[in-house]
Amino acid sequence: MSIISKDIQKAVALLNAEELVAIPTETVYGLAGNIFSKKAINAIFETKKRPHFNPLIVHISSLEYLDTIVEYVPEKAKLLAESFWPGPITLVLKKKNTIPDIITAGKDTVAVRIPNHPVTLELLKQLEFPLAAPSANPFNRISPTTPQHVEDYFKYNIKMVLDGGACKNGIESTIIGFENDEPIIYRLGSTSIEAIEKIVGKIEIKNHKESAPVAPGMLARHYAPKTKTVLSDNLSETISKYSGKEIGVLSFQTEIKDRSITFQIVLSKKGNMSEAASKLYNALHTLDRQNLDVIIAERFPDYDLGKSINDRLNRATKK
Ligand code: AMP
Ligand code: MG
Repeated sequence: MSIISKDIQKAVALLNAEELVAIPTETVYGLAGNIFSKKAINAIFETKKRPHFNPLIVHISSLEYLDTIVEYVPEKAKLLAESFWPGPITLVLKKKNTIPDIITAGKDTVAVRIPNHPVTLELLKQLEFPLAAPSANPFNRISPTTPQHVEDYFKYNIKMVLDGGACKNGIESTIIGFENDEPIIYRLGSTSIEAIEKIVGKIEIKNHKESAPVAPGMLARHYAPKTKTVLSDNLSETISKYSGKEIGVLSFQTEIKDRSITFQIVLSKKGNMSEAASKLYNALHTLDRQNLDVIIAERFPDYDLGKSINDRLNRATKK
């Protein structure tokens, strides 16, 4: 039987009973639990096989609630919250003592955002606690952007996927931390650097540490299909290297006419980055199911969401 349901009241009841529910957001589906329930939070780490050094994002429904979670909000964090929430920006701020250490992996900061999805905003309003919700996939695997992706991963481990349709943005939130009150990008994501810089000026990116990452979205290998995946600057050339193999191709805009390709997905025929981002993970899930020898993904132009897409493709193709 399917665990996918649109019943918000059922989700409320399960979360109140310290169970996990997969929830829709505009970025990807999250595996959600009460931040104050040890049982629920442990279950999140267990279910995902997520290492405990990897902290969780706290989801709230209104800006007023922020003060109950964090000690202090720098001026530029306020500006970003007012400009982008509800939306795909996560702010890492000094936490209040009431936030359990297991949520923050022992750090004195907490990651928080207001998701922009009507179903989950309604759900959050009906709960008396915020939700911790990392992406609803096993650690290191491709994030889910449809209820079906979550069911495929976790049918036997969780009781419900709250159905909010396919995720509109399709890649994770952009994570921003603060050093001396100045914003720094810890993870590229659904909000482009260009949009962020319009609000707070030039911003530094620090997302390439290989060990002891500030944000584990920085880990070199992440978001990965099971099938060998390579990143290409020249599709025809890379395809010819794999001749005789079952080849899948993931391209931005242009369909490659080549009979040695077994399966091909074009992300946006119009060349629209947002459309490409929203379809990226579903395309990787689909390609991963085709029993291919190799997935060849085209590198995106390095601006706007192309930067975030390249970041994910890079990590998907790391060994
Ligand atoms: P996900 O599992 O896809 O929801 O990713 C959550 C991301 O938020 C991970 O990369 C975490 O490392 C990051 N994160 C959560 N809390 C913090 C924190 N206090 N400092 C830095 N990064 C954080
Ligand atoms: Mg994740």
